[in-house]
Amino acid sequence: MAAAIQTVSESKELRGLNLIAAHSHIRGIGVDPDSLEPRTASQGLVGQEKARKAAAIILQMVKEGKIAGRAVLIAGPPSTGKTAIAMGMAQSLGSDVPFTMLASSEIFSLEMSKTEALEQAFRKSIGVRIKEESEMIEGEVVEIQTDRSVTGGTKQGKLTIKTTDMESVYDMGSKMIDAMTKERVMAGDIISIDKSSGKITKLGRSYAKSRDYDAMGVDTKFLQCPDGDLQKRKEVVHTVSLHEIDVINSRTQGFLALFSGDTGEIRSEVRDQINTKVAEWKEEGKAEIVPGVLFIDEIHMLDIECFSYINRALEDELAPIVIMASNRGNSRIRGTNYRSPHGLPLDFLDRVLIVSTHAYSKEEIQQILSIRAQEEEVDITPDALALLTKIGLETGLRYAGNLITTSQLISAKRRAKQVSVEDIQRSFQLFYDSARSVKFVSEFEKRLIGDAGDVNLSVTT
Ligand code: ATP
Repeated sequence: MAAAIQTVSESKELRGLNLIAAHSHIRGIGVDPDSLEPRTASQGLVGQEKARKAAAIILQMVKEGKIAGRAVLIAGPPSTGKTAIAMGMAQSLGSDVPFTMLASSEIFSLEMSKTEALEQAFRKSIGVRIKEESEMIEGEVVEIQTDRSVTGGTKQGKLTIKTTDMESVYDMGSKMIDAMTKERVMAGDIISIDKSSGKITKLGRSYAKSRDYDAMGVDTKFLQCPDGDLQKRKEVVHTVSLHEIDVINSRTQGFLALFSGDTGEIRSEVRDQINTKVAEWKEEGKAEIVPGVLFIDEIHMLDIECFSYINRALEDELAPIVIMASNRGNSRIRGTNYRSPHGLPLDFLDRVLIVSTHAYSKEEIQQILSIRAQEEEVDITPDALALLTKIGLETGLRYAGNLITTSQLISAKRRAKQVSVEDIQRSFQLFYDSARSVKFVSEFEKRLIGDAGDVNLSVTT
């Protein structure tokens, strides 16, 4: 089962490609591993020390499996690194600790209900570390005997393997015969067979059968076996998410849905069965639960129904840690007429650990932009960087970051090796930041098509 599906560490790499591009310079949260103190600038992250220290403590608790079922809110103005810190946390977790990233608007889709989308995100964030004992046989192939069936295909056979002191005969099924044929295993080869997966590895030739040694007159009676052991036990560990187990066992979907992402809704009976099975495995010592992290961006986009779902889901025995981000102050809780901080219901807010991010200083902005330029391999003159920093201070980091790319294209057009002040100015004129866009829209409102209720195109003010 586990061989065919994508494991948590594999799916981690595919996740949120668009977010990864903007945060590709981030490699961790840049703290000292012993004291958990943030370094001024490390692993791509600059400043924001308090939030990073808090993130480090949360990570420590995740690693110790202590914080499942809690919720953390990273609150702060736009472009102050909330997502960047979450990305850094994802990088610092072990490769088999699941980290799921969800933009709140993603859950509003026609394919499934909001709560189903949330439930899938929760279950993607819980890993199940499955331990399998596998038996290895290692030795020299003495004889391969296969029986031809009536249709001509070879379905079964016997394999004689010899170690230093004994010969044993094994029954082979068609799968094993296929694997042996593929590996071109012959008498005299030293092989290892993993009995649980059927994987065959050729380790070499025995001296006894090696023609080269024969020709060289070496004493061919000597039989070399890697370490003379007939059988070895080794433990194989796979980590998959609860969601992956759900999809594989959901008869309507089948495991191929894991690759297309088109999983649709999963029946609750399937999930109940999986929970029971996983609890059994845990009991028998065959599996371990690995609570991971679910990061929900733009949390104010969720509505009251979603909040009550999350509230309940956090109580569940199988819950990940939920980290949310919001750049809103007081806003309306969607689905109600109440206003509250970050648009979160007060009883929910009450159980959340809040970490805040703050606006950057000029030096910090300059340092972040310079890291971004290096990451994009853009050579920028000191004057151009100073101008970009000024733009960043006034309009926000994200817009200034985007100008790096556009300015480079402009400079490349005139075959320059470095981005200069003029390239930045040109870019600034070509592309509007949000404040200028708002101004533009209000000035030209009458000529643009408004939203549904605003179809009056007559010239009124
Ligand atoms: P929003 O509220 O608008 O979603 P945000 O707080 O999540 O914003 P980010 O998207 O993390 O902000 O930051 C904007 C850009 O600046 C990203 O490219 C991010 O990687 C970078 N950035 C932000 N803070 C830092 C930092 N402290 N160190 C390095 N890069 C940063």
